[in-house]
Amino acid sequence: MIIFGTKVRKKTVNSGQFFCPRCRAMRTYNHQKGTRYFTLYFIPLIPMGDVGEFIECSVCGGMFQLDVLKMKAPQPKADLAGMLNTLKARLEGGVPVEYAVRDLTGAGLDLDMARKAVDNTIGTERNICKDCGLTYAPAVITCTECHKTLESSPGK
Ligand SMILES: [Zn+2]
Ligand SMILES: [Zn+2]
Repeated sequence: MIIFGTKVRKKTVNSGQFFCPRCRAMRTYNHQKGTRYFTLYFIPLIPMGDVGEFIECSVCGGMFQLDVLKMKAPQPKADLAGMLNTLKARLEGGVPVEYAVRDLTGAGLDLDMARKAVDNTIGTERNICKDCGLTYAPAVITCTECHKTLESSPGK
């Protein structure tokens, strides 16, 4: 009796680092090329054509299309804790309240929380630029946008 069949053999053509969508982390990949062989008595004899190329994660074994290599690791969210730590220094260094609030909401705080964080840091008094409409910590005396002298405004 003659036993024959086909078998897919994998060959690693390349390897490197990629962002594995299944592990959600940077992993080592093997760029595999599969070729189907005609086998006789389980011995691969004749290559019968490519079954394609794929990227295999060395950790989870997941197999992906080649363009998985173009995927970038998701950007870490802006560091909210770090931002809150430097909030006072930034506000008193001339960053307008509006910009600081925008940065905080960008980092995931809701608008109310962001405004409260500013109030907690520098109080509710503001110096205002009549030209730009931007508001600043009381320690700031000139507008960093237009360099006009700021006017103080009583707290809310
Ligand atoms: Zn993986
Ligand atoms: Zn201004």
